[in-house]
Amino acid sequence: MARHFDGNKLVIASHNKGKVREIGELLAPFGVETVSVADLGLPEPVEDGDTFIANAEIKALAAARAAGLPALADDSGLEVAALDGAPGIYSARWAGPEKDFTLAMQLVNDRVGDNPDKRANFTCALTLAWPDGHVESFEGKVFGTLTWPMRGKKGFGYDPVFVPEGHDVTFAEMEPADKHAMSHRAMAFRQLIDACFKNA
Ligand code: IMP
Repeated sequence: MARHFDGNKLVIASHNKGKVREIGELLAPFGVETVSVADLGLPEPVEDGDTFIANAEIKALAAARAAGLPALADDSGLEVAALDGAPGIYSARWAGPEKDFTLAMQLVNDRVGDNPDKRANFTCALTLAWPDGHVESFEGKVFGTLTWPMRGKKGFGYDPVFVPEGHDVTFAEMEPADKHAMSHRAMAFRQLIDACFKNA
């Protein structure tokens, strides 16, 4: 049995304002008040784990211990079969210091080259950590294929080159609500809510 969240205040261990707002909205129906690590003036820890879950745990634990409150962190990225899972946990870094995802997608396409294996997936790890060091972690994945050239203006990151299984459009061509219903983040959130936020 997973440990249940029974407080009313949760730290979101992210410095990304968009993520903090989205997570706050998702948890609002459960009467959870959220505060971000940026609001608390907490620094970003070094993410030196070698899996998505390891990095989510590093971020969530650092925030929970520093704030003395439960904390939630996520870590996500694109995994390409022909590249042995790269860019993976380095997905943000492939975009360089300018966070140029056009460059990152070009790099992915160049490295895959004429390899006929276009399979790819997004992964999202979510960790809820408590100040005593307890963690609950969940992982969601969405599978699909890479396409080139980039298509679509919605979404973010690698969305313009990813076509989810059973669809003809990229994540960047989909309505955000349609993407959010099937995304790796949605899958991980569903597991987190079921395990830690719903009253049995
Ligand atoms: P993080 O914020 O350090 O976890 O970095 C995750 C990176 O993975 C982002 O900067 C994006 O490049 C990529 N990524 C994660 N989720 C998505 C998605 O839903 N669409 C497109 N790119 C994503």
